[in-house]
Amino acid sequence: VHSHSLGLNGESFRSEKNLKIAFFLTIFILLVEFSGAIISKSMALYSNSGHILVDASSLLLAWFAQKQIRKIPNGKNTYGYHRMGILAALLNSLLLLIISAVLIYESYLRLLRPEIVNSKIMIIFPIVSLFINVLIGLKIHKDIHSNLNLKGSFFHILGDSLISVAIIAAGIIIYFTGLDYVDPIMSLIVSPIIAIGAFSVINETINILLEGVPKEIDFLKVKTEILKKRGVEEVHDLHIWSMSKSFRLLSAHILIEKNISNSSDICCIIEDIQKTLKEKFEINHVVIQPELTICDMTNTFCIHQNV
Ligand SMILES: [Zn+2]
Ligand SMILES: [Zn+2]
Ligand SMILES: [Zn+2]
Repeated sequence: VHSHSLGLNGESFRSEKNLKIAFFLTIFILLVEFSGAIISKSMALYSNSGHILVDASSLLLAWFAQKQIRKIPNGKNTYGYHRMGILAALLNSLLLLIISAVLIYESYLRLLRPEIVNSKIMIIFPIVSLFINVLIGLKIHKDIHSNLNLKGSFFHILGDSLISVAIIAAGIIIYFTGLDYVDPIMSLIVSPIIAIGAFSVINETINILLEGVPKEIDFLKVKTEILKKRGVEEVHDLHIWSMSKSFRLLSAHILIEKNISNSSDICCIIEDIQKTLKEKFEINHVVIQPELTICDMTNTFCIHQNV
């Protein structure tokens, strides 16, 4: 068992508990918003209820992803199921893009034909949602940097809170002025924020799926760090990629200096490299092929052509 799997288990357990709490609170918000929509006949609250319904399902999806990470790797899936979480995050974000587009379109329609709404309900009910969203946001914020699903959820909660604020503000303005079109205008300002958060998650998940170098890691810096090691003559066929946001991997061929041929010395060099990569770049899964004479693959990047 590698050290990285232990770390991930602890981390996912912590966020899984938070996800569970977030899911049930979202169901509660849904009930509040939907009853508010029925009482006020406000289209804004109706569409926000629909949006929160999707929230609940995507939280369920993220929760599912966390369970996948804890599954033990086996002969069929030797890395385990980390990528299930990446796929869930991608799906979740695509869903958010659609929601954002629907909200923009609905707001546009409302702008053309404003409707009379019960502004008091528009003020009171979203305050409850806002309060709960702020609580959820504060709770998961500390984990978002290591967990892509939580990062997505956090941006989402931020967007949700802004929607609540916009609905409350619109309700206050409508209450005092009777200007019904203020409501769709507010919605048009707020909706793109959901899309921005979604785009950042889509970017990151696609980079992981394309086996890209993690964006926090400088490829050349890693190469230089390996070359600096005593006994390392040259590095080639160097790969850096990630299985999920917090599970990074590296593989490389290293050419051992001519004066070293003792196997215990070679082991020391490899252990030294592994230690440095873990400490400086948080790359936990390292595979190094030591070579006494250089192999056919002399490029930094390997060229695997299907001939
Ligand atoms: Zn939402
Ligand atoms: Zn391994
Ligand atoms: Zn080689």
